[in-house]
Amino acid sequence: MTEKKKLPEGLHRDTLAVRTALPPSQWGENSEALYLTSGFVQPDAETSARRFANPQEGYTYGRTSNPTVTSFEQRLAAMEGTEAAIGTATGMAAILLLGMGLLKAGDHVVCSRSVFGSTLNLFAKEFGKFAVESTFVSQTDMKEWKAAMRPNTKLLFAETPTNPLTDVCDIRALAELAHSGGAMLAVDNCFCSPALQRPTELGADFIIHSGTKYLDGQGRVMAGAICGPAKYINDVFAPIVRTAGMTLSPFNAWVVLKGLETLGIRMQAQCANALAVAKFLEQHPAVTRVYYPGLASHPQHALAMKQQSGLGGAVVSFDVRGKDPVELRKNAFTVIDSAEVMSIATNLGDTKTIISHSATTSHGRLSEEQRQAAGIGQGLIRVAVGLEHVEDIKTDLLRGLGKL
Ligand SMILES: *Cc1c(COP(=O)(O)O)cnc(C)c1O
Repeated sequence: MTEKKKLPEGLHRDTLAVRTALPPSQWGENSEALYLTSGFVQPDAETSARRFANPQEGYTYGRTSNPTVTSFEQRLAAMEGTEAAIGTATGMAAILLLGMGLLKAGDHVVCSRSVFGSTLNLFAKEFGKFAVESTFVSQTDMKEWKAAMRPNTKLLFAETPTNPLTDVCDIRALAELAHSGGAMLAVDNCFCSPALQRPTELGADFIIHSGTKYLDGQGRVMAGAICGPAKYINDVFAPIVRTAGMTLSPFNAWVVLKGLETLGIRMQAQCANALAVAKFLEQHPAVTRVYYPGLASHPQHALAMKQQSGLGGAVVSFDVRGKDPVELRKNAFTVIDSAEVMSIATNLGDTKTIISHSATTSHGRLSEEQRQAAGIGQGLIRVAVGLEHVEDIKTDLLRGLGKL
């Protein structure tokens, strides 16, 4: 009845972020509807049979799909510039789905050593149980990636920039390496989001998202997604979601769908805040090193500026001064505990600035030697910069830095 007109061709990404969705219901709602239902009534047995045989024909049961989830998938795919996307319950569920879809016993994966901790565990431990072997290599040394390639290498997995040290890898070079060896490249685009970086435009085959981070942007729900070619999304990944049930809930899909509408302006503002915080930290005498791709001092600054739409992202890490690990940790804790505005938490991508101590949280389960090898010292602090006024964030950091 109120069938929405099809969107014209050639719209800008910011417009797609606000407008891409299924048509409204017969009520003509302007904000996309949230369909909280586990099942869908079928008009007749014939239609039901057709939809069960081919889920593209219509909705049947919530584990398979839901219109609110479809709207989220279509909007994210439009923003990433991929043919399709599939939602999952969490970011980790998306990586599990990627592996289940692309790998079988005897296959080999090459993965950066600096990816998200649970990703490392998933490839090393869980996929290891099913005779999928993984080699972990330096985030930034292409020679290591090349040397790790084998005839049975099926997947290269990268994340850029990394957490918490913001190391940047060259997506285009990794895509070329993967394809020259008959493998595919998946990039975890969590830290940049499509507002900054679109990996498939640089040759990657698949994009992984944790919707929990910048896509939601306000720390409300868990969500994940894989973006990529329609034939993989529909024929490889969707049947696994239907069978194995790592389905994205419609409520969470709706929250992230609405989050996508403001992603572009949030990222612009959070990146601007982060750059100002990074520059401020670089000048402070109690700070020995700042890790932020937007700074000229960052080792991959030029690559990051090219790959990330000229923006450094919104995560800034820094080392405070201290003579040994005990003093470093004490000083880092002083800075964290002196904050009166920032939240002490482990999430990122929130409008609320989050401060955390990587050595005792995300990297807390590593041995001290493993942490040192990874460059995560006891004096390292990560700030996932939000949308507060930047002067208030700086003042909050000064509360502790002034005591060192
Ligand atoms: C948080 C995160 C994930 C995992 O996402 P969840 O939604 O927490 O499962 C994966 N990759 C990166 C880079 C992340 O920051």
